[in-house]
Amino acid sequence: MKKVFILGSTGSIGVNCLSVIENLSEDFEVVGLTVNSNTELLHEQVKKYNPKFVVVKDESASQNIKDKLPTECELLTSEKGLLKASSELDYDIFVGAMVGFAGLAPTIEAVKRGKRIALANKETLVVAGELVTNLCRENGSEILPVDSEHSAIYQCLIGENLNEVEKLVLTASGGPFWDKDKSFFENATVEEALDHPNWKMGSKITIDSATMINKGLEVIEAHWLFGLTVKKIDVVIHPQSIIHSMVQFVDGSIKAQLGLPDMKLPIQYALTFPKRVENNFGRTNLPSIGSLTFFEPDLNKFECLKLAFDALTEGGAAPCILNAANEVAVSKFLQKEIRFSHIPLLIKKALNSVENIFSQDLATIFECDRKTREYVQGLI
Ligand code: NDP
Ligand code: MG
Repeated sequence: MKKVFILGSTGSIGVNCLSVIENLSEDFEVVGLTVNSNTELLHEQVKKYNPKFVVVKDESASQNIKDKLPTECELLTSEKGLLKASSELDYDIFVGAMVGFAGLAPTIEAVKRGKRIALANKETLVVAGELVTNLCRENGSEILPVDSEHSAIYQCLIGENLNEVEKLVLTASGGPFWDKDKSFFENATVEEALDHPNWKMGSKITIDSATMINKGLEVIEAHWLFGLTVKKIDVVIHPQSIIHSMVQFVDGSIKAQLGLPDMKLPIQYALTFPKRVENNFGRTNLPSIGSLTFFEPDLNKFECLKLAFDALTEGGAAPCILNAANEVAVSKFLQKEIRFSHIPLLIKKALNSVENIFSQDLATIFECDRKTREYVQGLI
């Protein structure tokens, strides 16, 4: 029985992960769950999955569940509780399904213990890819990507030699706006940006898909996961989201992984690897899909994608600055305080103004994140 600890259990990935585990209940058990503040859903999950511990990050929200937990379920709160659970409590697999920079510190604790990391929280690798991958090597921890593109590439690389890879091709749905004119972005509403054509996800990543910075974050994630330079990572728009990504080899051969746009498959693969396990998820029916199409992304229109490529090329803490500026901008856009078109402007200003630091210690990364947030808040 493998013991699974899910960080961000009330989110889109967290809920999908729980339903995957329900199908695998002979081999996997849920031992820990964390949320920010959604104690109502957490309570339902506790009743159903009977974890040994839960963490509610928001201390005041933790009061709502304190008296409802079974006595054998330990309650921890705040950032400290999250770190304590990751660094001390008993589990085998760490599912990183929190959103944003907040996922970094607990992931590092799990890596230091040599745990298997099923990683959805791409921001962790964007802001501290070098640090995290070095720690993985030192501690024998393995990251199994949950992000569908990276799961696809991981699967395509099995049995292959990295030296024989010519390039990775990340597919992008393009989000709801890929075929709109740039002028549309000026008045694009929150509701329009949240209306993703293929995937049902949390609000932050859905806005990231609309600006296409999500694909930029994934390029950085792929760089750290697979150790390839930015020149060897391409992005292609594939509106059907059936091919989840591809690897092209030095002989010109391309391997692709296909499936329905359903996160349960990459989540299950990250849990059960190296085994594949039967399930009742939907199956891809190619004749009913008909055609798969591909387009070059327009970097002039999707400036955020270009900024992410630039940040990776620049190196150091530039991806951390990009990420922090984006997190602030997206949250302000969701609160309707800025326009959709302001998001790339704020990121560009932050990249030009916040000092880049070429050091990968955790304190420096935290300081860079803090400074960037302060700078972007000031601009707004
Ligand atoms: P959601 O917004 O749906 O869920 C986020 C989860 O994290 C919730 O459980 C939330 O708790 C918790 N959380 C949010 N902020 C904090 C915080 N500051 N401290 C502690 N916990 C917090 O996100 P998604 O599930 O969509 O995405 C999770 C991660 O996975 C992201 O990094 C995303 O980029 C990545 N990802 C998601 C995909 C998807 O299909 N959704 C696909 C590929 C990658 P609460 O409910 O209490 O707010
Ligand atoms: Mg993805």
